[in-house]
Amino acid sequence: MEEKKCVFCSIVSGEIQSHKVFEDQKFVAVLDIFPITPGHTVVFPKKHYDSFFKIPSMDRIQLFETVARVADAVLKGVDTDSFNLFVFEGKNANKTIFHEPQIHIVPRFANDGLNFNPPRGRYAEGQADQVYRKIARFLKG
Ligand SMILES: [Zn+2]
Repeated sequence: MEEKKCVFCSIVSGEIQSHKVFEDQKFVAVLDIFPITPGHTVVFPKKHYDSFFKIPSMDRIQLFETVARVADAVLKGVDTDSFNLFVFEGKNANKTIFHEPQIHIVPRFANDGLNFNPPRGRYAEGQADQVYRKIARFLKG
């Protein structure tokens, strides 16, 4: 498979300038250049993975520790106590950059005009049981 030039890899290497609010050996956190709200920050591994599921599990733990640390700083920095966390995975998730996992920290403010409240459906009679069985069978020994 042909490897396209990846924007996030170019951010890691410095070829693309960014506001790196955090960087260690494995991870970086940068301000999103198209912020949903001011302070919208993306945390991702320096190493390129093309799927959330391919990052080693120990790194995934460290990644979420890093997300917690960065989110705490973001909230203090932009003076709010609220945020949404987004992970985009797969072609149906409105994803444009395939460097995984990318964790988006989106600070929320009173009256910020956002509405992450998509319409909710209801399960048809018996459907929840079917869906439950389809998922749970992969999680039980
Ligand atoms: Zn990449």
